[in-house]
Amino acid sequence: MPTLRFHAVKESLARKPLQIEETKRRSEIFGENVFNENTMRQYLTRNAFVSVMNAIQHGTKIKRDIADQVAVSMKDWALSKGVTHYTHWFQPLTGATAEKHDAFFETVSGGMAIEKFDGGQLVQQEPDASSFPSGGIRNTFEARGYTAWDPTSPAFIYESTLCIPTIFVAYTGEALDNKTPLLRALHAIDDAATEVCKYFDKNVKKVSSSLGWEQEYFLVDKVLAASRPDITLTGRTLLGHSSAKGQQLDDHYFGAIPTRAYNFMKDLENECMLLGIPAKTRHNEVAPNQFELAPIFEEANLAVDHNSLLMDVIGRVAARHNFKVLLHEKPFAGMNGSGKHNNWSLSTDTGVNLLSPGKTPMSNLQFLTFFINTIKAVHTYEALLRASVASASNEHRLGANEAPPAIISIFIGEQLTKVLEELEGVTKGKLSPKEKTELKLNVVGKIPDVLLDNTDRNRTSPFAFTGNKFEFRAVGSTANCANPMTVLNTIVAKQLKDFKVEVDKLINGKSLKKDEAVFNVLREYIKSCKPILFEGNGYDEVWEKEAEKRGLSNNKTTPEALQAKVAKESIDVFKEMAVMSEIETKARYEIELEAYIKHIQIESRVLGDIARNHIVPTAVKYQNILVENVKGLKEIFDKDFKSVSKEQINLIQQISRHIESIHALVTDMIDQRRQANKIETVEKRATTYCNKVKPFFKDIRYHCDKLELLVDDEIWPLTKYRELLFTR
Ligand code: ADP
Ligand code: MG
Repeated sequence: MPTLRFHAVKESLARKPLQIEETKRRSEIFGENVFNENTMRQYLTRNAFVSVMNAIQHGTKIKRDIADQVAVSMKDWALSKGVTHYTHWFQPLTGATAEKHDAFFETVSGGMAIEKFDGGQLVQQEPDASSFPSGGIRNTFEARGYTAWDPTSPAFIYESTLCIPTIFVAYTGEALDNKTPLLRALHAIDDAATEVCKYFDKNVKKVSSSLGWEQEYFLVDKVLAASRPDITLTGRTLLGHSSAKGQQLDDHYFGAIPTRAYNFMKDLENECMLLGIPAKTRHNEVAPNQFELAPIFEEANLAVDHNSLLMDVIGRVAARHNFKVLLHEKPFAGMNGSGKHNNWSLSTDTGVNLLSPGKTPMSNLQFLTFFINTIKAVHTYEALLRASVASASNEHRLGANEAPPAIISIFIGEQLTKVLEELEGVTKGKLSPKEKTELKLNVVGKIPDVLLDNTDRNRTSPFAFTGNKFEFRAVGSTANCANPMTVLNTIVAKQLKDFKVEVDKLINGKSLKKDEAVFNVLREYIKSCKPILFEGNGYDEVWEKEAEKRGLSNNKTTPEALQAKVAKESIDVFKEMAVMSEIETKARYEIELEAYIKHIQIESRVLGDIARNHIVPTAVKYQNILVENVKGLKEIFDKDFKSVSKEQINLIQQISRHIESIHALVTDMIDQRRQANKIETVEKRATTYCNKVKPFFKDIRYHCDKLELLVDDEIWPLTKYRELLFTR
């Protein structure tokens, strides 16, 4: 009987691309399903409009009667678009988004019904929170948590439902989601950066953090993916011999996008436009069937929401095109994995990008201030930043043979390195008029020109300055960007706050001029944070040794990396910047360890099952064919049969050895799992899963993949790498 694999390949080969026609300009449909500023102008009273805009821009509270007005307008707008339900849309610590739909529909006396939605329903809801991870903050018996409207991220219509972005917190006030700490961190960076900006421009009232993410993903035909239990259950292949042709010809990167994928992308981008996600770039990535989507950058909270939404939308659109989208960081061994570069910058309400050099020496000094403070923050908190991207799936990239390394370092390019070297030589204390002029003209003043040809790019660096922003490349493709963005904004906020104190001290105590004080503090920073700067090849072993000498951490596994989250300096910085209390920080640590354990546990079970239920029986079947063959040869050739059946006998023996090894390894793995499960403390359990269970994956896979090469292709049950990656 032909295998499921056989049917799947046949079905996927017969696919016709779903043609997507674009009849309207994208600018015309952009934000059509978003309750954005434009829509609010049309639907809200002037009073309500001003109130919501104030909440967005200045964080002011919205009064209850205004919330009632907003709710009614939102409902009217939604009903006019055929919407029947609404939901509070939030991002619990499961990593996914959550929603519970309620109809606007309500019955009233007299057997009548109406559509109703008021301020109370808009502002706050109480979803049953007991099934979401809380890290012990909220005992399940008092499953009390609530969602609260976040007016800074506009409501939108998705799948005929009005979705209201909300935070999710326990009744005791602790955050149970990704958004709450992010909003607090954005508040902290606004405060700290605005204060520092005032040295350079008194008009600055607000600084916001921007994020431009780049989402990588793989597309695999739906039936091919469904024919693989590992992809279905874990999002990646746990075994499979590499295809004879992989990515070595580099013929996919930036190549012509295959027709089916192209139509999928058009459809996806169309959805993005309606939802106000400013999708801008699409291209093929390095590995076969690997692609990338990048939007125009936005305010960080909105960008995080848009990425979370995108990760949902992309799956639904893919299904329409008979694709399964794989967001996993490492779906295929031997192929490039997927990441989600986080491009990050800060900008003022006066329209200045603080990480972009300006036209005057003063604005360039401002640029240098933010540039160097960011470097200093990353140096101080490198381990925490690494921890912010640690997960079971990202472990396949960071610290494995994959970009970028687990060591956090910063690439700034040759020209800026020179600028920092010159600044390091600035005289201590007061500067002579000559030195000031020299600095202004030849160092600070030259920055825009030198940056113009700052085209060298280092692709191995986890944290790179790319002209007018930093690019954090260690973020995993499945990650919610809130986590790394919360950490980055918190640590830079803390650094800017300290900077302000130091500069003020020099101005008031040592009576230095403002720019002298700034130069003096920056000089010391450059000296102290040099170890984090690295321009070389991040994959080189030499770098690992060098980084160790420099005192940088190199936490390759997730349990190791996560520890930095609960180090004293991490707990302190979150507390000081009012981003997370100690309870919240510790709860998150536990939740992430639990998630790690569950991931490895599931993968271990799936791998054991596939090895025993699919691979071994198939190998036995093929071995029987060989045995029959040898028996037949014996009948014909009698005593001489050995010379004609040497290879077959050899194969039979090889197969037996692999089967034996698989059985022994799976048995041992299950045993280790049992032992690990008995461990009480979550920390130790995670470490045991990491060091005692996970190592079996590689060995079991080795024998299964060897069998794939020995066994007759026709009876092999699992869809092969070449089919998953090259069937179009
Ligand atoms: P690549 O890194 O692929 O070479 P680019 O450097 O052109 O591409 O930009 C990558 C991403 O950086 C885009 O998603 C873009 O929106 C984002 N980006 C550009 N400027 C900023 C900024 N000031 N803040 C945050 N993100 C930005
Ligand atoms: Mg990039």
